[in-house]
Amino acid sequence: QKMRFESKLPNVGTTIFTVMSGLANQVGAINLSQGFPNFNPSARLQQLVTDHMAGGDNQYAPMPGLLSLREMIAAKIDSLYGVGINPDTEITVTAGGTQAIFCCIAAFVRPGDEVILLEPCYDSYRPSVETVGGIPVVHQLSAPHYQVDWNVLSKLITPRTRMLCINTPQNPTGTILRREDMAKIDAMLRGTDVLLMSDEVYEHLIYDGEKHASALCFPELYARTLAIYSFGKTYHNTGWKTGYCVAPPELTREFRKVHQFNVFSANHPMQAAFADFMADPSEYLGLPAFYQHKRDFFLQAMAHTRFKPLHCSGTYFQLFEYGHISNEPDLAFCKRLTTEFGVAAIPVSSFFSDGKDEKVIRLCFAKTDDLLERAGKALEKV
Ligand code: PMP
Repeated sequence: QKMRFESKLPNVGTTIFTVMSGLANQVGAINLSQGFPNFNPSARLQQLVTDHMAGGDNQYAPMPGLLSLREMIAAKIDSLYGVGINPDTEITVTAGGTQAIFCCIAAFVRPGDEVILLEPCYDSYRPSVETVGGIPVVHQLSAPHYQVDWNVLSKLITPRTRMLCINTPQNPTGTILRREDMAKIDAMLRGTDVLLMSDEVYEHLIYDGEKHASALCFPELYARTLAIYSFGKTYHNTGWKTGYCVAPPELTREFRKVHQFNVFSANHPMQAAFADFMADPSEYLGLPAFYQHKRDFFLQAMAHTRFKPLHCSGTYFQLFEYGHISNEPDLAFCKRLTTEFGVAAIPVSSFFSDGKDEKVIRLCFAKTDDLLERAGKALEKV
């Protein structure tokens, strides 16, 4: 019997990341498409995981996460952002940022509720909203600056708006929301019941002396915020899928209702290892300099190509315009870069739900210098 059902996500196919990484592997291209480091996390951190496994931390962790880890997270937030967060009632450890984003949307968005997205954005937001029957409402940003038009954005807020999703530093644009931008969001949402999903997974990947403006720093804004973080970005282990959500107690309570039936808890030995490892803040305090060096090294490696770099204030992504080189649609262009020139990139149109093609590609510079150098050389031929 052929089962009849209507897809909840009719427009979702194989993601562009799977497509481009697959193509890169097939032709042996340098893969700067998907966002992950090609180097390992700290050897000490790996050893800590091994030790915790050997020591027996192999069964379910507590539903909200290990308290020792949540205490370390609270201490870090206090030292970085100067705000007191209660580890017991305001922090939940998750199976990565993506799972936290899904839970935060599923916990609050009902069928017919509107959720405002700033596109181009991380590709999990829209399907998460659609899975639970919400309606994505898009404020579209444009190259080369991808600046928010506050007037346009504020007009999208209606009595049906349940949530606004922001991401700073933003994937794929590399732009950031500064203190004054966050203050505008704070003012814009006052008097409404709109929640804020503040995706801050790249909080430490911020350059040129810029300071990350966390939603946690604005007391009134925080009352409506669920802020999302990922250890994968901070400690070079995207495959460990561990992150956390910070939200006031009333919101955390609802978040955990979904989280506990979604995964129940995140993996235990990694949590125990992160709790130990976070005692030394030097690793994350050194990240801005570490990745700024990579960004600058990569820009140098690309300096003799015809690609035009856009300004990157944060994340480990660098955008390049190529409209003066070719008229090809960005997807076709990226495929050709992979097959003919041996470097895989992501077309930025794939981060727009309407496929807006501004002839911009995204390259990930979370790679060893030799690979970045080789990529630059290869792209000189374009
Ligand atoms: N948010 C953004 C903006 C991201 O780029 C990513 C990872 N690509 C995530 C969330 C997800 O993080 P995780 O890998 O921990 O699920």
